[in-house]
Amino acid sequence: MSIIDALEHHLDSDAVLSSEEDLLCYAYDATGKSYMPLAVVFPRAPEDISLIMRVANEHRVSVIPRGAGSGMTGGSLPESGGIVLVMTQFDRILEIDTENLVAVVEPGVITSQLHKAVEAEGLFYPPDPASMNFSTLGGNIAENSGGMRAVKYGTTKEYILGLEVVLPSGEIIHTGSKCVKDVVGYNLTQLLVGSEGTLGIVTKAILKLLPLPEAKKTLTATFPSILDAGRTVSEIIRRKIIPTTMEFLDRHAVWCVDQYLQIGLAPGAGAFMLIEVDGDQDQVEKNIAKVREVCSANKAIEIQIAATAEEQDDLWRMRRSVSASLAHFKSAVKINEDIVVPRAKIPEIIQFIESVGERHEIRIVNFGHAGDGNIHLNVLPQNEQLETAHKAVDEIFDRTIELGGRISGEHGIGTSKREYIGKNLEPAAIAAMQAVKRAWDPNNILNPGKIFPE
Ligand SMILES: Cc1cc2nc3c(=O)[nH]c(=O)nc-3n(C[C@H](O)[C@H](O)[C@H](O)COP(=O)(O)OP(=O)(O)OC[C@H]3O[C@@H](n4cnc5c(N)ncnc54)[C@H](O)[C@@H]3O)c2cc1C
Repeated sequence: MSIIDALEHHLDSDAVLSSEEDLLCYAYDATGKSYMPLAVVFPRAPEDISLIMRVANEHRVSVIPRGAGSGMTGGSLPESGGIVLVMTQFDRILEIDTENLVAVVEPGVITSQLHKAVEAEGLFYPPDPASMNFSTLGGNIAENSGGMRAVKYGTTKEYILGLEVVLPSGEIIHTGSKCVKDVVGYNLTQLLVGSEGTLGIVTKAILKLLPLPEAKKTLTATFPSILDAGRTVSEIIRRKIIPTTMEFLDRHAVWCVDQYLQIGLAPGAGAFMLIEVDGDQDQVEKNIAKVREVCSANKAIEIQIAATAEEQDDLWRMRRSVSASLAHFKSAVKINEDIVVPRAKIPEIIQFIESVGERHEIRIVNFGHAGDGNIHLNVLPQNEQLETAHKAVDEIFDRTIELGGRISGEHGIGTSKREYIGKNLEPAAIAAMQAVKRAWDPNNILNPGKIFPE
């Protein structure tokens, strides 16, 4: 029996797609690359996935879990064909437990839908990737996604208490629990978070929730240079304020957004920052006043504080428009990296990136999460500069590592960065990770070729 016949034999007829037009719709992700799968399946229960995994093991065909396909490093791409396992029908919020401050969810729930549901109960799920209006919780868990609030609240891993997972063998396991404390055996929950869909398929998750903060306040400031903005970040932290968000745009990003939105930013702005604080009303007022003081002391040219929710949205428009505004530069490709350095090193790495851009005469635009050291650098080469652009990225990765940083802060390794993983990890560390993969997935069925160079 062919693999498609076997899948159709076990699943509902509308749960298996194999026509070319249908396959095309699941062949791509946010990297812009595309590979045709052999089949696309829509499981509706963990038991469906068990069957699919058993069939895949028998036929030695790979299985690639997929959420919304918004990943930036190719994790959901069927690089060598195989079965794309679309998790979007696992879309229920099963429970919001207001007694224990936990939610039990299926992985196909869109992240911002969970935000709305828990906020209606006065609760808070902090992870907020910029893709939250379309990415799924399963994808967030697999990538350990970050977001704008990570500086104060951390990333997805901080909020995952337990998981239901189908192993590559097809067996179903449960890790963790609703309990705040749980040290029963190895911490498989945290091993699975950030494993990029290579160790198991998440079918349910128990999430930790927090009380929704009473108030928040947003401030934006422009600075003459990235050095002034960097000093501001360090001093805010030194003064023991942890804002919810501290985002920055370098001078190239400021220029792009200014051109795009036509808002006439302060002339001479070399950097832009958006800072948000949350908490009790009194504390928020005190903290935003201190943040304003620190910005002024560090030569801020212009400072704005939002008085209303609408004004808050207006201030956020600058930060949210960066990606769209990059289209102003007609580059051949956009190489999008998400390096991270210890946060005090941001000015140093930005200056280095600028020097690399100038030396190679390539436009590089930087923006990102100043509060946690995570920089989105966008290398925008012309056609004839493609090779040089990759050389520039290589130099930036090396300097990042010299400064104590990592080659990915939130997008993961996937296929895009697998050739570089050895820059951050020793051969023995890579071998230890590959040994885990082999033990869980001896036939290398689940999402092969991701994370590690072959
Ligand atoms: C405009 C834009 C902004 C972004 N902003 C951010 C950001 O701020 N922070 C950030 O961290 N990332 C960001 N990303 C990257 C991406 O959105 C996240 O990695 C997101 O978590 C991916 O979710 P997804 O549902 O699209 O997963 P997919 O892209 O479909 O899959 C991602 C990985 O998860 C695996 N996977 C999916 N579902 C499951 C499951 N149920 N079980 C096991 N494995 C599974 C896949 O195999 C793949 O390896 C952004 C992407 C875009 C396009």
